[in-house]
Amino acid sequence: MSALVGPPAYCAHIAEVLLSQEQLRRRVGELAAEVSRDYAGKDLVLIGVLNGAVVFLADLLRALTIPAELEFVGASSYGDGIVSYGTCELTKDLDRSIEGKHAVVVEDIVDTGRTLAALVECLELKGAASVEVCALLDKPSRRTVELHPRYIGFEIPDSFVVGYGLDFAQHYRGLPYVAVLEPEAYESTT
Ligand code: 5GP
Repeated sequence: MSALVGPPAYCAHIAEVLLSQEQLRRRVGELAAEVSRDYAGKDLVLIGVLNGAVVFLADLLRALTIPAELEFVGASSYGDGIVSYGTCELTKDLDRSIEGKHAVVVEDIVDTGRTLAALVECLELKGAASVEVCALLDKPSRRTVELHPRYIGFEIPDSFVVGYGLDFAQHYRGLPYVAVLEPEAYESTT
């Protein structure tokens, strides 16, 4: 296990570091190289899904070797607990038109896939030339809808993870690695 970095109160609830800072840095660089190659010469807009994708998006954007516009949407399917309600509610819409642009939706994690499936449909209706998904983490065993992200950072098992932008009840987002929480950390709320 790599060293636990972060507020001690948080570290006390971490069962395991699943992805270290170094693993994340390397994989995000590889994803950025793929996106840069695939979208060279195209009008690219990265659409970050708030709030969880912000850390991943910031690193991905800085590793691109091509220009990209930046937009954000809010599409929360989880409250402060760990249950997916499977509804895509746009809590924040795009600020600018994406008509004719090539959109890459940047998401922290794909679980059932319902949030992203609805979001992709929504962005296609807004007239994007193309819509693809770049997700840092994927839990394929949990999928309930047809969704095939073009870019996936890591496939992970079905555990609840936090860190590198991912939260539990708005905590842990600032951890520089991805970790599995001790069940006791969320048991009382489920
Ligand atoms: P889906 O619609 O694919 O079931 O849910 C995707 C959303 O659920 C993600 O954007 C994320 O907010 C949340 N989510 C799913 N699994 C996890 C997890 O293991 N940890 C955290 N922090 N959020 C998760």
